[in-house]
Amino acid sequence: MTTKIEDEEVPLLCSDCFVDEGLKIDAMHSGLEQDGPCPNCKSTSGRKLTKALINGVAWRFFVGGTTIRCKYGAAPVIQFNEHRYGRSDISPSPWLKNDIKLIEEAAKIGFFHYGPRLWMVGEVEPLKDLQDPATRPNIIELILKEYPERSLSQDEAFYRMRVCPERPDDPAEYDSPPIHLAGKGRLDAPGFPVMYGSQDIDVCVHECRATAEDDLYVATLKPLRTLRLLDLTHVLKEDVTEFESLDMAIHMLFLARSHSYDISRSISIAARDAGFDGIIYPSFFSLIRTGGHPFETTYGLSLRRYHPEAEEYAKAFTIPNFALFGRPIEAGSVRVECMNRLVLTQVGYRAHFGPVTY
Ligand SMILES: [Zn+2]
Repeated sequence: MTTKIEDEEVPLLCSDCFVDEGLKIDAMHSGLEQDGPCPNCKSTSGRKLTKALINGVAWRFFVGGTTIRCKYGAAPVIQFNEHRYGRSDISPSPWLKNDIKLIEEAAKIGFFHYGPRLWMVGEVEPLKDLQDPATRPNIIELILKEYPERSLSQDEAFYRMRVCPERPDDPAEYDSPPIHLAGKGRLDAPGFPVMYGSQDIDVCVHECRATAEDDLYVATLKPLRTLRLLDLTHVLKEDVTEFESLDMAIHMLFLARSHSYDISRSISIAARDAGFDGIIYPSFFSLIRTGGHPFETTYGLSLRRYHPEAEEYAKAFTIPNFALFGRPIEAGSVRVECMNRLVLTQVGYRAHFGPVTY
């Protein structure tokens, strides 16, 4: 007698079953090395796929592979589930048609055009209020009230990177840029310089948009007194839907591109005026660094909110960055403990595939 669990370990397809090159390669990466012929195509050299692995391949290719970023938020064009089995409505490229049939039959799923729930594409009330200069101050006041303070103590080191500094051995090179250069970044504003740093060196490399050709230097910094930081990476516990969620608004704000900087700069200035030394914020590169997918959902519910371990889930995909107000080295609140040259020997990319038509 076979149990249900054993059934789920039975291989149903293999990487050689597929015609689409992207599906083949994904199945090669995620499939199991197992002896014996594939029950579908009889190949003995392909990597075998169980039902769970087929679901993974399908999710990466059709959901992850059709996800489109919006001004705020992101949503997939295609979704699949068991309820749509036998009722797929997507129109793929000719070479994908049979691959899709195989997946649908093996995993008993159907693919369909997904009308995203509107919060996923930025219809989040506090986020809309932040975009309107008239209502922005109310939401910023709420942010200062709801988000916790975190202190950075004198023994907590962090890093700051410089690309081609003029005098790499001069500690002052690692301070915030001079006042007349401030105002180009996410949290600095004209006349208001900010020092960006991180406890993750890889994120520093990303945030600097550094390439293997750049001459890179990194300073190890430590506070000279305990610094008070507003922690915007904290996952708020809220009793509201995604449409009203301040947590979702902040999450989307820091994953948005430069059109959002007016808002983040206003938060920064308000935090300074409230007496904070800086902000901890989620890195724009969090998702690339951790391999997360923006705004993952199950049946349109945000996993960030409804995952059984929502807080751990969100934290696993969030990399905190520091923004310290003013010029902290000059002001004597931060000191340079060490300076190093950083030599990039490998810049890694990981990718997955998606369809071109649907
Ligand atoms: Zn096969």
